[in-house]
Amino acid sequence: MKIKYYGVRGSIPTPGRDTVEYGGNTACVAVWVDNKLIVLDGGTGLRVLGDELIETPFGRGEGKGTFLFSHLHWDHIQGFPFFKPAYIAGNSFKLYGPSQVDVTLEDTMRQQQQYQNFPVLMEDMPSTFTFTELKEGHTMDIDGIEIKNRRLNHPGGVFAYRISSQDKSIVYATDTEHYSAPDPGLLELADNADVLIYDSMYTPEQYKDHVSWGHSTYEEGIKIAKAANVKALHLFHYDPSHSDELIDAIVKEAQDDFPNTFGAKEGWELEL
Ligand SMILES: [Zn+2]
Ligand SMILES: [Zn+2]
Repeated sequence: MKIKYYGVRGSIPTPGRDTVEYGGNTACVAVWVDNKLIVLDGGTGLRVLGDELIETPFGRGEGKGTFLFSHLHWDHIQGFPFFKPAYIAGNSFKLYGPSQVDVTLEDTMRQQQQYQNFPVLMEDMPSTFTFTELKEGHTMDIDGIEIKNRRLNHPGGVFAYRISSQDKSIVYATDTEHYSAPDPGLLELADNADVLIYDSMYTPEQYKDHVSWGHSTYEEGIKIAKAANVKALHLFHYDPSHSDELIDAIVKEAQDDFPNTFGAKEGWELEL
């Protein structure tokens, strides 16, 4: 199993000199299991993944991929219209995610590409798409890869995912606000995972002014990582105001408490 980060920023892309190291693209993480591609969210980082995939069977219209959307806020879908493999006939993509506030996954994705917002309708993209809305707790098997989900705490709802194959597992839990005690659903999902990717939008001090905004902190990520016996914690979905310098300091502080903490960065790739 291989993970590569293409976008680690929350809310809005943040280009500029202060974000060069961690990157300014919004949420997008690629997971490969034996050359099978799973894409976690389609934020602006998806454009870069698409450009890389053009050098693979996706460039010849022979690619198959799976998208797991945590939810459908802009920072998790905005890269999709710029995903080049979707413009090549023969490629096929399965899109999984929640419906969002009474609008289906399919309608929300199509609405992003209405003419008033974007020049190409989704139905005019030549590759094929299938949409599946997920129910909480439903375990899927995609080409031998097990995918579990849990609903977490975020305005409009959000899914966290666990991807497991051959004794390795990754948990993706972004855009979630913690409760006073660790969420039992997330603890169960993250149990003994190799990697927990966790919403680290705010510093603990900033969180005090953002209660009920639907995001969390590295401290809460550490609580989950310890309680669920997670091997490595990856901080993710940084606030747009966070500079490289600040994120470095946050990662260092987190490592004092949980040494196997890493700050996810664009372009970082690791094999499990
Ligand atoms: Zn987000
Ligand atoms: Zn969100």
